[in-house]
Amino acid sequence: MTFETLGLHTSILRAIADTGYTTPTAVQEQAVPAAIAGRDLLVSSQTGSGKTAAFMLPALHKFAAAADDLTPSANKTPNQERQAARSRGERPRFQAAKPKMLVLTPTRELALQVTTATDKYSAYSRRVKAVSILGGMPYPKQMQLLSRNPEILVATPGRLIDHMESGKIDFSELEILVLDEADRMLDMGFIDDIEKIVAATPETRQTMLFSATLDGVVGNMARRITKDPMIIQI
Ligand code: AMP
Repeated sequence: MTFETLGLHTSILRAIADTGYTTPTAVQEQAVPAAIAGRDLLVSSQTGSGKTAAFMLPALHKFAAAADDLTPSANKTPNQERQAARSRGERPRFQAAKPKMLVLTPTRELALQVTTATDKYSAYSRRVKAVSILGGMPYPKQMQLLSRNPEILVATPGRLIDHMESGKIDFSELEILVLDEADRMLDMGFIDDIEKIVAATPETRQTMLFSATLDGVVGNMARRITKDPMIIQI
């Protein structure tokens, strides 16, 4: 099995070639084609299994395929609208960030790792930026990151809720939701925050949940927030 046979866009294949990965890991083999096909996923896998690429590669593939379909007459992206408004001499007004993808992680360290990996995998993706929204990061810095209207947010739940409740982030255009290390997030007491965040996203989203275990509380939540998920146990 190669990354080509997984059906990934050429811009993603180029980025993978730069990383030096030659063969998809077991979780990537199963998750990538299913996610490209639009399936929700419940994945039981450990750190080190290559799970970050398992959710990020198909997401970047979908954004790349959608960008290919954009003709010049298609609707403007929010960033293009902002630029057009500026060139008409209109004063920029505050607009909430409208991410297309959200990755929730239990810790700042994991969020930063996911963001770094995303930067690598999206090296040749047009118009795709990922930013991390983390507790402990100064607010002005986060406001500056959000004002760039990134397509991908990687966040710990607590700080994200603050921005959501103060209207800085609007999830109405969210297409993909990922819960990474969901069991750890629940162990850390983030269940209410997660429920609130999920409730703010469209029903039409694609959801991918990764967890060491899919039993008990995490299994219940997983089944509630996904639709006809493909279950992958590595
Ligand atoms: P993760 O499980 O996402 O934390 O990934 C663990 C490590 O495996 C990271 O250092 C990745 O860069 C690396 N990795 C992910 N996918 C592959 C692959 N297909 N081949 C080789 N290394 C990989």
